[in-house]
Amino acid sequence: MSKGETGMAGAFWTIVEDDRQGMPKKVMAEALGEAGRLSGGNVEAVWLTDKASDAGVKQLGEWGASKVWMVENAALAPYRGEVWAPIIAELAGKESPKAIFGPVTSRQRELLARVAARLGVGLCADAVGFAMEGDALVGTRPVYAGKLLSKVKWAKGPWVATLRPNVFRPADAGVAKTAQVEKPSVSIPDAKLKFVERREEAATGLPELTEAEIVISGGRGMKGPENYVILEAMGKVIGAAVGASRAAVDAGWRPHRFQIGQTGRTISPKLYLGFGVSGAIQHLAGMRTSKVIVAVNKDPEAPIFKIADYGIVADLFEVVPALTQEFKKLLET
Ligand SMILES: Cc1cc2nc3c(=O)[nH]c(=O)nc-3n(C[C@H](O)[C@H](O)[C@H](O)COP(=O)(O)OP(=O)(O)OC[C@H]3O[C@@H](n4cnc5c(N)ncnc54)[C@H](O)[C@@H]3O)c2cc1C
Repeated sequence: MSKGETGMAGAFWTIVEDDRQGMPKKVMAEALGEAGRLSGGNVEAVWLTDKASDAGVKQLGEWGASKVWMVENAALAPYRGEVWAPIIAELAGKESPKAIFGPVTSRQRELLARVAARLGVGLCADAVGFAMEGDALVGTRPVYAGKLLSKVKWAKGPWVATLRPNVFRPADAGVAKTAQVEKPSVSIPDAKLKFVERREEAATGLPELTEAEIVISGGRGMKGPENYVILEAMGKVIGAAVGASRAAVDAGWRPHRFQIGQTGRTISPKLYLGFGVSGAIQHLAGMRTSKVIVAVNKDPEAPIFKIADYGIVADLFEVVPALTQEFKKLLET
């Protein structure tokens, strides 16, 4: 890292995940917070977008980014890995960051793997912890569906990692800091994929699964797609996202983007509420790092009770409406 001594090279980079309306998502506070702590404040954001905003830059600054590398171009939307990865790799080649972090989102999971491959360095995917050991970064990540934690070191930098949401302490907001914007000249590769149709998902009015502080999960015990309305009603009261097990997704009751588990989303909310979910190892792989786990299942032997902090052996169709009523009362007072 030859430029390490001369300026901001050697910084920890975070790749911005935005809401496509010009604002960085809340998970960026966590990525910037952790990068800031590890680097002693030498943290910068890299923002590839077709739509940036001054408010977004201000937010990144308040979360600790001293600089925003801004590549704003219409050709960056919709996201395509083959367009984005070379830009980040080119910029990293010029600026020699010490680390490149991004939150685990469906886009960055792929993007940072491509970036690491282009740079010929290792990737610590789905990291749940970091520590500096002397001059080297050590990442901790779950393996074997979350049964073990492994520690990894990079043979060479930059240290590329994706960070699991809701695990790292967010940067303190409101710090009176501003980010300097730098618009580097980079070549924007041609897209190899052309979108012929774009479908927007209907907004549910509920938070996004991977970002939510409370997640309600419905399994095969829900009996059919029509019954998810009772979970959504509860979600509206307590501000929770509603996810599902693979059995429910395979049955066509919920779209795949709502699947929690090894082959779905990984979540780490403050509170997980599972209804009619048995607790198969592949489901646990996606939610076992939740802070508090509550399970409702009519089978007292259901494996989910082994990891649950609170369990109710009962019919979910009686428990869900009753709990929703109680939550309503509590939140109204
Ligand atoms: C390679 C691979 C990858 C996989 N990836 C995933 C993944 O990402 N995510 C995932 O979830 N699974 C995954 N699976 C599937 C997993 O093994 C289980 O089959 C699945 O999680 C079961 O879903 P479930 O708990 O909803 O259903 P079931 O195991 O059928 O459990 C339903 C539960 O509902 C309870 N119940 C029924 N009626 C009621 C009621 N009225 N009130 C209360 N409780 C009731 C039952 O007692 C039961 O415990 C994967 C499997 C494989 C092989």
